[in-house]
Amino acid sequence: MSVACATFAPTVDAIWANGVSKRYRTGTLALDGVSFAIPEGTRACLLGPNGAGKSTLIRLLEGALRPTAGEVFLLGERADDPGYTAARRRTGIVPQGPGMYRDVTAREHLELARTLYGRGDVDATLDAFGLREHADKVLEALSGGFRRRLVLATALLAEPDVLLLDEPTVGLDPVAQHDVRALLRTAMAGRTALLCTHDLREAEELSEDVVILRGGRVLVHEPLATLRARARPRIRLAAADGERLAGALRARGLEPAADGDGLLVPGDAQRDAPALLRALLAGGVDVYECRPVAPTLEQLFLEAVRA
Ligand code: ADP
Repeated sequence: MSVACATFAPTVDAIWANGVSKRYRTGTLALDGVSFAIPEGTRACLLGPNGAGKSTLIRLLEGALRPTAGEVFLLGERADDPGYTAARRRTGIVPQGPGMYRDVTAREHLELARTLYGRGDVDATLDAFGLREHADKVLEALSGGFRRRLVLATALLAEPDVLLLDEPTVGLDPVAQHDVRALLRTAMAGRTALLCTHDLREAEELSEDVVILRGGRVLVHEPLATLRARARPRIRLAAADGERLAGALRARGLEPAADGDGLLVPGDAQRDAPALLRALLAGGVDVYECRPVAPTLEQLFLEAVRA
């Protein structure tokens, strides 16, 4: 079995939330009129502060919750409609918690999933996810990293078209995180995926679109490249005497931010750096580095949620 998948004609929205609100029985309005669509073959990350409604949205999409208002669709099928069950079978889900039977073996777990989905090659999946030598261990005996691999393997067993991933690497040690992320990269390639994560580097590495929720509403939904293009450009400067550099920048009305052994200031390098450099060098500040800095997803995210 290959964990990669065929490509799509990029016309259908595989994941669609249309004016979705969710109020829990406690009265909490977790989602408030959320609308967005992810076309087939697009990998999107779902970001937002704690309590923004990310898990609620994933659970609505997987049919575990019903919206209070609005509707969710998977592969063009509305949850509640008869066709949704088939669409759900073409959707692999990696839930947040382990949510698994602890006393079944890895092989038995995959066999249960095959029965549920009606297809899948257990042996090929064990091999693809490096689980062969752990196949006969009960889940309780597996390390956190291997348990997570098994959750991912279970989601991929039936070669789904869509993946819903709720924090797939959370709580893993750095080595396991690295291994699971490598499997995710292959698993997500060519598929539609919605990846809920707190790890912004992971989001950046694994997705091309970003949906940011805040307070149950969609704050941003666009390609990462568009978000990046809208971000304020910055210039990184370093000098032997960092204090003096900081003072000289402040004197020019620029508020520097620390960045390792250098300083970041807002500005377009092509437009602003030559004059800035000339002034700094003429003022006796020995600048040895000056370069444009592409904003990270973390900065973009913080700018968006703080705005
Ligand atoms: P996120 O995944 O972004 O952290 P959640 O979807 O878990 O956000 O939660 C959104 C809001 O809904 C929060 O205020 C949370 O406390 C509340 N919430 C989540 N699940 C439940 C539930 N089962 N019952 C009541 N309130 C809930």
